Amino acid sequence: MAGMIPDITLNDGTTIPQLGFGVFQIDPAQTAQAVRTALDIGYRHIDTAEMYGNEAEVGAGVRAAGLAREDVFITSKLHNGCHRPDDARAAFRSTLDALRTDYLDLFLIHWPLPTRYGGDFVTTWKVLEEFKDGGRARSIGVSNFQVPHLERLADEADLVPAVNQIEAHPYFTNDEVRAYGAKNGIVTQAWSPIAQGAVLGDPSIADLAEQVGRTPAQVVLRWHVQRGDVIFPKSVTPKRIEENFQLFDFQLDDAAMEQVTLLDQGEAGRQGANPDTFDYLPT
Ligand code: NDP
Repeated sequence: MAGMIPDITLNDGTTIPQLGFGVFQIDPAQTAQAVRTALDIGYRHIDTAEMYGNEAEVGAGVRAAGLAREDVFITSKLHNGCHRPDDARAAFRSTLDALRTDYLDLFLIHWPLPTRYGGDFVTTWKVLEEFKDGGRARSIGVSNFQVPHLERLADEADLVPAVNQIEAHPYFTNDEVRAYGAKNGIVTQAWSPIAQGAVLGDPSIADLAEQVGRTPAQVVLRWHVQRGDVIFPKSVTPKRIEENFQLFDFQLDDAAMEQVTLLDQGEAGRQGANPDTFDYLPT
């Protein structure tokens, strides 16, 4: 089953499974079981973050599935409160400890926080470059970076992020940031790929689902796959975890792709925070 998921090659030569499993807002008490279910179905890529509070349980789920560490691609992200270099180093170490692993496949700056830390996410990025140099992060990237943030890294840092993980779904296609990534070798990861369910009741999506004989979630997730983005839908419901995995035995034609893209509402379609102003520091 795992062989069905295409790998995407990142700008540092490593590969990432295009489909993974997201664990944002999964209660820690449910996380190991959800991860285990996903891995049993065939997922081989888990997206977590220190701020999700469930890294230890992700690690437990991977071990419970009986898989070798190298068989699962694991991503985590830097806590917003830990952008200063020594804090970032300590946070990265605690992420590795929580997951009980000695490396991550991918580690991201979770948010740029341009209104915090004197607007300096470049110094933080350079600390992630250390993690990559030391081999403890196979790849490094960013999340929620806007085009000017990416341009600044290009000007002031050595490494180009391997990925940029951003909100993207039919109501907010986020194509300007995606286009910058495509032009500069940065793979886009689309977070909240089904807009936490908000797009699934759309009549246009329901119509397409009917036409192709698939569920609304499968239509939307397949649209992402054909756009070339990496996705990791979240669910705690085994039937949905299975449904979201069945994306590689059908296709949307150009007209169907366009019908989904036409749902874009621009900024009004955002479900999550705007990275230019988001300044949340958990206490
Ligand atoms: P998703 O777009 O993946 O939607 C998850 C919601 O949709 C849940 O309520 C789930 O319900 C429901 N759902 C899942 N599959 C189906 C289905 N087949 N049919 C109907 N409903 C379904 O939202 P997320 O925000 O979780 O995004 C996915 C991942 O992206 C996160 O888990 C996280 O890893 C990442 N992310 C990253 C962010 C960042 O800042 N970098 C921000 C937000 C997300 P249920 O669980 O009850 O089944």
